[in-house]
Amino acid sequence: MPLSKMFSTLCVMVWLVVLNTPVQAEDAHSYARIKQVSTPHMELDLTVDFDDRKLRGHVTYKLARHDTSTQLYLDTNELVIHKAELLIDEQWQPTKFTMGDIHPSLGRELIVDIGPSAAQVRIHYETVPTASGLQWLTPEQTAGKEHPFMFSQSQPIHARSWIPIQDSPALRLTYNATIRTPEGLLAVMSANNSLSDERPGEYHFSMPQPIPAYLIAIAVGDLVVQEISDNVAVFAERYIVADAAWEFADTPAMITATEEMYGPYRWDRYDLLILPPSFPFGGMENPRLSFITPTVVAGDRSLINLIAHELAHSWSGNLVTNASWRDLWINEGFTSYVENRIMEALFGRERAVMEQALGYQDLRDDMARLPAKDTVLNIELGRRHPDDVFSQVPYVKGQLFLMYLEEKFGREEFDVFLRKYFADFAFQSISTEQFKHYLKRELLDKKPLLVSMDKVNEWIHQPGLPDDAPRPTSDAFIKVEQQMQRWLKGGQLATDAWTTHEWLHFINNLPLDISAQNMARLDQEFQLTQSQNSEIAHAWLKLSIIKNYEPARERLREYLLSIGRNKLVSPLYRELAKTPDNLKWARQVYEQAKAGYHPLTQTVAESLLYANQ
Ligand SMILES: [Zn+2]
Repeated sequence: MPLSKMFSTLCVMVWLVVLNTPVQAEDAHSYARIKQVSTPHMELDLTVDFDDRKLRGHVTYKLARHDTSTQLYLDTNELVIHKAELLIDEQWQPTKFTMGDIHPSLGRELIVDIGPSAAQVRIHYETVPTASGLQWLTPEQTAGKEHPFMFSQSQPIHARSWIPIQDSPALRLTYNATIRTPEGLLAVMSANNSLSDERPGEYHFSMPQPIPAYLIAIAVGDLVVQEISDNVAVFAERYIVADAAWEFADTPAMITATEEMYGPYRWDRYDLLILPPSFPFGGMENPRLSFITPTVVAGDRSLINLIAHELAHSWSGNLVTNASWRDLWINEGFTSYVENRIMEALFGRERAVMEQALGYQDLRDDMARLPAKDTVLNIELGRRHPDDVFSQVPYVKGQLFLMYLEEKFGREEFDVFLRKYFADFAFQSISTEQFKHYLKRELLDKKPLLVSMDKVNEWIHQPGLPDDAPRPTSDAFIKVEQQMQRWLKGGQLATDAWTTHEWLHFINNLPLDISAQNMARLDQEFQLTQSQNSEIAHAWLKLSIIKNYEPARERLREYLLSIGRNKLVSPLYRELAKTPDNLKWARQVYEQAKAGYHPLTQTVAESLLYANQ
């Protein structure tokens, strides 16, 4: 072999060794032993039973054997396993399976005998009505009131409550699915969704790009579809589909802007699914079909940074994924950074900085209430449920870390680095250690005096924020603060040109000793209690609890009863739980609201309202 060729082969080998550095630690949140046997492809066949609130059917896996193990380890949680089979000589034959003990956050390990040579395994099973990853809504709990609705939320470790699966983000798999629903309802998945008007009750899906288990998603309901462009459409209940298509009309431009910065969009279509109000998150980045809360359909496109966020995951997260939930910041920190860059590209620097500043304030609030150990990016989770330590830390602290690197190396250089990072690790799952190794080689070592590895380690492994962390300051917000000072002394507010962001900053920074008179004055002039912008209403209602501002109480009740998004309702319950009278009132409202909340929101709210019982 000529020397030049040998050299390039050597380079490729070195390269492979670097890229394939095994994940440093096993995933503490999965029983799967993917280094022994893994499952690179899944065929799902499920029937959706709304009467019994169950999915029934089977899952078939192709097996990739990496050693001589004769057992396959899968994650389950509350699943009823009926039968396991192996494909031997093209015939399905029963095989033995056993189940481990129940762990409160991990669920239960399922061990299937796969013998020495079978290439496929099939498991027949059904879910239970309390499956943590599914929410079943009665017709009354939907906007249309006529048909039921069901949707999944698999991240972080809930896929195992509706599929027996190797539920670690370190593993990627492709899938096909056949889903049967009651006639007239539409099923959609994180896969190729048809734009057809027909509702035959049997749907076929294919996801040809390998994704981790937490991105497998399904929703079934009385959905219609409206196209925004050739490759973007909105799926939603009829009442909101046109409003959502208007609200999110900038999505195609967001895709173009992101491609220009970070390389091609690799998932073909990008559609949005608008969920009922009980959806517990702002959005979930299910590939090809982001799941979106209706609370961001504000009527003025003021909250569409959420779409930028979910879209950004098509690069950071879905394309390059965290290898374990300790590494979540690799998903969310990069995504918050990219989200903000998309907003800047489309709407300019001022709006982007306002959004940075709002995020920074949320981070400071979270850091003030969290134990120091949970303000570390590469968090020590042990076997705690990742949902229990959810905070702004992986999001905003991660974003600030990348903003810090951008400041130090310059935007041009940092963009080149990020673009290459997304290409080099495309369709892989990486650990914090792998990232650090790559960062050192591809960025730090190229200009050794700019950022030391000690500094990187401080960002990633120490609590709180480094002293020299970026502190986003918005000129527009400074003007808001100046106006506030004049207003508190009896002056007038000039709010005609204020955006939602400026209102949020204003309300969030009102002094806590604001007089009852001033609360009433503000409300009369600007109808804040009646604001239909979910974020502005949230900020105002939170202040109204602190101030015991009675005129907002009925609206607060209505808000808590009509929205199930955890970020919007839990802080209100947290505030209410601080005084005995409010706590009593909050428990009454919660008992009424509970049926409309997702299990995740229920868990968080109950931890706030019933913690000391
Ligand atoms: Zn995210």
